[in-house]
Amino acid sequence: MKHPQNYGDERQLLQCVFCGGPTQTVDHCPSRVLLDEPYPEQLPTVPACLPCNNSFSLDEEYLACLVACVLAGSTDPDNVTRPKIRRILNSSPALRARIDQQKNESANGIVFQPEMPRVESVVTKLAKGHALFELNEPCLGEPDLIQIVPVELMTQEERQNFELPEAPAGWPEAGSRAMQRMLIMDEASLVSPWVVIQNGLYRYHAAAGAAISVQIMIAEYLACKVSWD
Ligand SMILES: [Zn+2]
Repeated sequence: MKHPQNYGDERQLLQCVFCGGPTQTVDHCPSRVLLDEPYPEQLPTVPACLPCNNSFSLDEEYLACLVACVLAGSTDPDNVTRPKIRRILNSSPALRARIDQQKNESANGIVFQPEMPRVESVVTKLAKGHALFELNEPCLGEPDLIQIVPVELMTQEERQNFELPEAPAGWPEAGSRAMQRMLIMDEASLVSPWVVIQNGLYRYHAAAGAAISVQIMIAEYLACKVSWD
């Protein structure tokens, strides 16, 4: 997918999107471990410092593997559909064992007890990246809200609200990608406000109003919402 150019205030791009430190590299947002090859053209990237760029990779790998194992109901690589995750689980027995320890057989089937601080850290990182890329809004502080819910645990109403988020009260910054997407509005974006990075694996929606709000759907399984007041 082609993303619009950012014509917003370029000063926002001079600092690490995660900590505000000096820009030393770019970070793919979403991280490639959440996507399959061949990767989409033009993956969104955001400026980052090297320590931040490196600090998330183990947690991102954990989240990608966790979601794949939950969907498979198993940590056995042979049961996992994504080839990349199969490779990671095969080459990282410790990670596989760790996720396996979080798996419980209950009367309702197999349930995983994820390490929420790690999941929240990755989801917050992704949301910061999307907020900058789409809205040209740096969100350096801790978010005011983080919701991470498996789709199957949402009520129908919650699901509807998540899929069709309310239009923001204000317009995004002039020149930001979100503003341009509003102006370009092709048929697809009239039907859905989501930016689909890879079908079935990753989509997001970012809005600026009274709050900066980012919604992320991972593998059509994990519905995430992060906002800053
Ligand atoms: Zn940083």
